[in-house]
Amino acid sequence: MAKPMNGKWKTQILELQAAGVKTGNICNPQRLYRAMLKLKGHTLPKWAKIHPETAVRHLKEYRQTGILQPPENLVICKPKPKTPYVPPVETDEFLISYAWRKLRYEALKKHGAQCSLCGRGRKHGVVVHVDHIKPRRLYPELALVLDNLQPLCEDCNHGKGNWDETDWR
Ligand SMILES: [Zn+2]
Repeated sequence: MAKPMNGKWKTQILELQAAGVKTGNICNPQRLYRAMLKLKGHTLPKWAKIHPETAVRHLKEYRQTGILQPPENLVICKPKPKTPYVPPVETDEFLISYAWRKLRYEALKKHGAQCSLCGRGRKHGVVVHVDHIKPRRLYPELALVLDNLQPLCEDCNHGKGNWDETDWR
């Protein structure tokens, strides 16, 4: 549990509470300053970093003048966009990854769920796989390229080894 601020910032904490702001997690001047700014209509992005000295200086200024200035030396650190984790393409884990299953689905949607070689599908009682035309172990860079995929039934797919790169579509 964060220690609530008291002492010299008591007045500001009370002001926030009077405005209905929950102050339980305000445990340092930066948070207090951020909450006060929000109260005054300046909302900072979550990843903005306020220097503690800046926060204290502006809070003191506010106490004296009643005017709360937004920070002039704010550090903005945008979070890196999250890139989904893709397991190494040569592993079995790759085949259960979302990236692969999504693309596999795209390939079936594009070509239909029947074998590109023998033409059989589920109605013939065969399991349809999505095959990498250029094998993923030899061409890992093509493992998630839609154009490198073709539906093959289990029988045809098992007969096709890593040495074969025939496009049956
Ligand atoms: Zn087949």
